[in-house]
Amino acid sequence: MRTAFVAGNWKMNGNTDSINELMDGLVNSINSSSVEVLVCPPSVYISQVKSLTESSKISVGAQNVSENANGAFTGEVSLSMLNDLGCEYVILGHSERRSLYAETDQLVAAKFIAAVESGVKPILCVGETLDERENGETLKVVSRQLNAVIDAAGIEKFADAVVAYEPVWAIGTGKTATPEQAQEVHAAIRAEIAKSDAATAEKTRILYGGSVNAANAAELFANADVDGGLVGGASLKVNDFIAICQAA
Ligand code: PGA
Repeated sequence: MRTAFVAGNWKMNGNTDSINELMDGLVNSINSSSVEVLVCPPSVYISQVKSLTESSKISVGAQNVSENANGAFTGEVSLSMLNDLGCEYVILGHSERRSLYAETDQLVAAKFIAAVESGVKPILCVGETLDERENGETLKVVSRQLNAVIDAAGIEKFADAVVAYEPVWAIGTGKTATPEQAQEVHAAIRAEIAKSDAATAEKTRILYGGSVNAANAAELFANADVDGGLVGGASLKVNDFIAICQAA
């Protein structure tokens, strides 16, 4: 009942030519309606990607957004701009935003609320660091990050939201969570959402992220509570990303 979802997070990579080439490969190969496919370019390239996906099934999202409406916020990008460009999704609370740009649970919640209110669907990222995992705090940390948003936004704002479990120690490291580790946390996330509303928990897609590649995608996605992936490095390689979409 949950449509599989694969999202590519390009991070701060690409240029006009490389994006033309990547999108050419993707648009020609991704045409199944059994998997929802999203690409999230750097914001300056959203228009370019949007025009390249016009006649395709690929959606376009952003990697971050301001919680504020248009105004004097030098360097920021607003939700009305994302809407203007036809962005359907925005990644929020990515661990790089949390650790490198000091985004707190409260700020992530404010962005989540602003996104839902403006009609852009959030992909809320949660995940523990290696220290936290080794201290046995994984479920505590993930629950705290999730509940900060549920408490501030209200569960009704999760109707179209996607959650991504991304263990920080697995991001860009080539170390992937085992299918069992992923399933354990995904099931816990769904159970946590179910405490607020069981129907929302059943509907919410929970993606795994952290060194997903063409070789490990199928076994990760085979788990009952893993509804797809949020893919960084491998989303920049056309054949790898296509293979990951096919595995979903
Ligand atoms: P990775 O990144 O696939 O390169 O590990 C995932 C992410 O940060 O979303």
